[in-house]
Amino acid sequence: MYHQIGEPAPKGTPYRGLTVHPKDFTRQMAWMSRLGYRGLSMRDLLPYLKGEAKGKVFGITFDDGYRNVLQNALPVLTHYGFTSTNYFVVHQLDGGNVWDYAKGIPHSGLMSLDEMKQWAHAGQEVGSHTLDHVHLPELSPEAAHHQIAHSKAELERLLGFEVSAFCYPYGDETPDIRAMAQKAGYSNATTTVRGLARPDDTLFGLPRVTVARSTNIVRFLQKCLTRLEDKRRRD
Ligand SMILES: [Zn+2]
Repeated sequence: MYHQIGEPAPKGTPYRGLTVHPKDFTRQMAWMSRLGYRGLSMRDLLPYLKGEAKGKVFGITFDDGYRNVLQNALPVLTHYGFTSTNYFVVHQLDGGNVWDYAKGIPHSGLMSLDEMKQWAHAGQEVGSHTLDHVHLPELSPEAAHHQIAHSKAELERLLGFEVSAFCYPYGDETPDIRAMAQKAGYSNATTTVRGLARPDDTLFGLPRVTVARSTNIVRFLQKCLTRLEDKRRRD
């Protein structure tokens, strides 16, 4: 689970740790490739998660649809022949991380419709992260359903193809919310529960490994390739 790929904000800025330096991202992808692993979008990963395919693969996701991911991560992904999923906030195309501002997190631009299309046409996946980056369990069931279902419909209208990957904003979900995502027609949904996916995981509550600015290459490989620290904690 990545968020932004770019030069981190100045020291002391809240959550600057979620911006991974392009050099570190490149090193991480290079090592996984060298070790024989292929990075995949959720769409491409699904057969492996379902046990229908076997191989040395790992999922790559980006939350929120940041422009710096298009600029800094796409060339690296393309170079290694990897695919990935970026989860877009539909009402913030060409906007920013407005939901973060109150926490003092600086503005960062999100991809426009054209940029999202570039992302998709380069073979990368577009997933949904709701319409407005909401805390789904805090909404009425009707409003939560709207955020989940209408974001899918709207992305599909804009892109002209199916959107099947969903990501719960803030990792906020409940059994009811998971059921809503499934009923809306998605095929999988990711959380912020920490860990590596297991064969018995539900496809609507997939855990992830957080990669932060401070994650050095040894920690990165430990986190991605070993279950030593697989404690299934929530971020
Ligand atoms: Zn998010």
